[in-house]
Amino acid sequence: MPGRILVVDDVATNRLILKAKLAAAYYDVLEADCGQAAFDAAKKEQPDVILLDIFMPDMDGYTVCEMLKSCPETSHIPVVMITANSSPRERIRGLSVGADDFLVKPINDMALLARVRNLLRVKMVFDELKLRDTTSRELGLTDFIETIEADDTEISSVMLVPASEAQGREWEEGISKALRVEVCGISSEREALNMARFEQPDAIIVHQRLMEDGDSLRLISALRARSETRQAVMIYVVSDGMIETAATALDLGTSDYVMEPFEPEELIIRLRTQLQRKREFERLRSNVRDGLKMAVIDPLTGLYNRRYATQHMQKIVERSQASQKEFAVMMMDLDRFKRINDTEGHDAGDLVLKEFSHRIQENVRGVDLVARMGGEEFLLVMPDAGNMVAKHVSERLRRAIESQPFITKSGNRLNITVSIGVAIGQPDGQDPNNLIKCADMALYEAKSAGRNLVSFHQAA
Ligand SMILES: [Mg+2]
Repeated sequence: MPGRILVVDDVATNRLILKAKLAAAYYDVLEADCGQAAFDAAKKEQPDVILLDIFMPDMDGYTVCEMLKSCPETSHIPVVMITANSSPRERIRGLSVGADDFLVKPINDMALLARVRNLLRVKMVFDELKLRDTTSRELGLTDFIETIEADDTEISSVMLVPASEAQGREWEEGISKALRVEVCGISSEREALNMARFEQPDAIIVHQRLMEDGDSLRLISALRARSETRQAVMIYVVSDGMIETAATALDLGTSDYVMEPFEPEELIIRLRTQLQRKREFERLRSNVRDGLKMAVIDPLTGLYNRRYATQHMQKIVERSQASQKEFAVMMMDLDRFKRINDTEGHDAGDLVLKEFSHRIQENVRGVDLVARMGGEEFLLVMPDAGNMVAKHVSERLRRAIESQPFITKSGNRLNITVSIGVAIGQPDGQDPNNLIKCADMALYEAKSAGRNLVSFHQAA
């Protein structure tokens, strides 16, 4: 996984040491020797991670981090602060200005590289989702959906796997006071795996030492591998000095870690940051998913749209060639629909379209394709259906619309009818658009013959 890393330190020797470690792991390293240079380089070069010294003569690392995080061009770049000694208070101060982590000099290679890998992984997923979101927007796929904004008021569920019951109570008290969460405590690896499957927690906090039997690293790795907890936030709590265990946990997929002793506030800030990130990811994912759905679904009726239908018809043509079976194509058009919109209003018109779609779907098979081609025009394609089946089904559909009046919100009973044009597709690989045209011509005949009729296209 290649990545560009910006190393910021006022002392040249410190930059050299870091650069050597990172270059040995094949990272591309950029350097800056003061706060202002770091800010400029971050904007211009867009590194994937920034390693930031706290004590520098022009401005300290906290100020630089604050600047980076409040500038839209750099706010998404993860920052790791580097310091000679990190007290719990210092860590909280750094985390509050948006830093992702702290590393203490002399820097442990394994911890450094594991953290860089972890941050690169997260950033890569984020960049990819951002890109897809942008593409969906550019393609106009998101025009129909309401963009969901990240919602901070939502209640998150948090599962705790502490080292003792006392610690569990302490965590629970601190977290539930500060964040809108539902907390549940767990004491063993097995119980954690079972609970996670049913509760699907948003976040899981695991202590290195479990209260009962089990292995905390194995637990993290299993939770990450499962589909129910793959997207959950995971925070690993390690005992003092166990930096290499923390590094292993990061490589196994934990989102973040905290080292004892820590102030309760540190755990809360890290949890809050991770939960916000998860919500942002979910928002992007669902925008992309809904955008794709909207590209093929008609929002009013929930039926497939023209774009999907023409694409899918090609598949039906191919399948009919393979099976050597005919298939039926029907164009359906509500009679005098404009009049409904004019006299009853557009809400009533929409209601009729929805009810119509519903009745059609109730009268066809699961394998049949129903699509709204536009306005009051619908398409039905029935695989493995010849003249006989098509006659039977089209007549049933016509009656399903005619037999029951459509009731508007204001209680008006509307008598609606439909005209249907049918074409039978032969298993010879013909052009789907041509078949739709044939069905359309038959539909036109049904209309001119008086409406509320089924008409079959006569092959020349
Ligand atoms: Mg310095």
